[in-house]
Amino acid sequence: MATATPMFIADAALGRLATWLRLLGCDVVYARAADEAELIRHARAEQRVLLTRNTRLLRRRALPPHLFVHSDDFRLQLKQVVEACGLRVAPAFLARCVRCNTPIENLDRAAACTRVPEYVCETQTAFARCPSCGRIYWPATHVARMRRELARMGLQAD
Ligand SMILES: [Zn+2]
Repeated sequence: MATATPMFIADAALGRLATWLRLLGCDVVYARAADEAELIRHARAEQRVLLTRNTRLLRRRALPPHLFVHSDDFRLQLKQVVEACGLRVAPAFLARCVRCNTPIENLDRAAACTRVPEYVCETQTAFARCPSCGRIYWPATHVARMRRELARMGLQAD
């Protein structure tokens, strides 16, 4: 049995990291407005690994599982989390909405074409939609861009 991918909660300093972890298919709550006590409570209640840049928070007693993120650079942050948590860089590309963390669903082309620019409709064949916020994705383009960026980070996708 494969080990379950951990779920995460990211503090206010880690918005871009949260987006990138979602791109890899991880379930990430971005707790932009939570204070320290809320972060800890939320992490514990949903058994999420707490990702933080806040050294003061680390001094609290009885922290739930957490990872102190060292860098200010989201590329190095992502690399750290991928390595520390043994995340696979690949299988769940675009499984989650990067904006709101909801699992996305396939959308048929006819429906997509009423909502995307004409050139996108003409050049893309597969589409997906977030059922929560309505954002539409065209995986071919998004995945290609993501692979290039991951390669630049030294995280080669399988
Ligand atoms: Zn969404």
